[in-house]
Amino acid sequence: MKPLLSCLALAAALAAPPAARGAYPDRPVTMIVPFAAGGPTDVIARIVAENMSRTLGQQVVIENVAGAGGTTGITRAAQAAPDGYTIAMGHMGTHGAAPALYPDLKYDPVKDFAPIGLAAGTPIVIVARKDFPAKDLKEFLAYVKANSDKLNEAHAGVGSVSFTSCALFNSLAGARPTRVTYRGTGPAMNDLVSGQVDYMCDQIVNLVPQIQAGTIKAYAVALPERSPALPDVPTTKEAGLPEFQVSAWNAVFAPRGTPPEILKKLSDALVKAVEDPGTSKRLLDLGGDLSNKAARTPDGLGKLVESEVARWSKVLKAAAPPAK
Ligand code: ASP
Repeated sequence: MKPLLSCLALAAALAAPPAARGAYPDRPVTMIVPFAAGGPTDVIARIVAENMSRTLGQQVVIENVAGAGGTTGITRAAQAAPDGYTIAMGHMGTHGAAPALYPDLKYDPVKDFAPIGLAAGTPIVIVARKDFPAKDLKEFLAYVKANSDKLNEAHAGVGSVSFTSCALFNSLAGARPTRVTYRGTGPAMNDLVSGQVDYMCDQIVNLVPQIQAGTIKAYAVALPERSPALPDVPTTKEAGLPEFQVSAWNAVFAPRGTPPEILKKLSDALVKAVEDPGTSKRLLDLGGDLSNKAARTPDGLGKLVESEVARWSKVLKAAAPPAK
């Protein structure tokens, strides 16, 4: 009799609507990071997840699902149950550039996601190994043009921010380096520091500590104004390549169909994290740009993604040479 009763109780519990099972979240939330640990997407995700965990009263656990320029992890997120327990840290590549570069992309950045909010803007910096034979951007441009068949440029896979940014840079510089693919710019950075690759165009976040320590060289930041986190690094305009203006960003998404009350909890927790004095200081010190408040809301982020997909499809059709 007893086992039958508990079976019935279990069946009743499983049949109950989610709200009746306890308030969301009643278990850890997984945040998919579509790149290897140690890169900008991972660093930003870990900073905001730590604060969101406190607000939500449940751990936000990072799961690194790397591959195919971030599209493997984001496909997994798009196909996850829309119950608020799987979310993802996407970026300008996965939710902006990828559709133009992957004709068979398994997700639509606009239609398959419920936007949660922007975590941070991330300016792009042109960096090279510390003994690269060029003292400034002008010399760097001349060198990469003259020697590009001998140079290796590191990126995080077709469609990633680093891939897209350096595709633009290479086309402006007239360079055709060997493009070396990594599972994220964390591992790419290790090889740049040890001098196994020559240069990279990446999100500022994990470059700042290395530039400050002198383990890599920075030639320019692709912003209209200098970054407060790197006051000694000139802008591309100051350094002689004003046409190179790229900006990237990282933002949090849930699968489409996630209930509105869950999205609201996640979005409120994200805003609280980004606006928390301790968290925002960590992001700002790493060069994060927290000025786009509008995109911190689901609606604002939805608009940003739409405009980024349109923008990159135009730019990339014209500029991106195929990956070697
Ligand atoms: N910054 C990387 C990119 O190029 C990825 C990463 O965050 O590791 O898209």
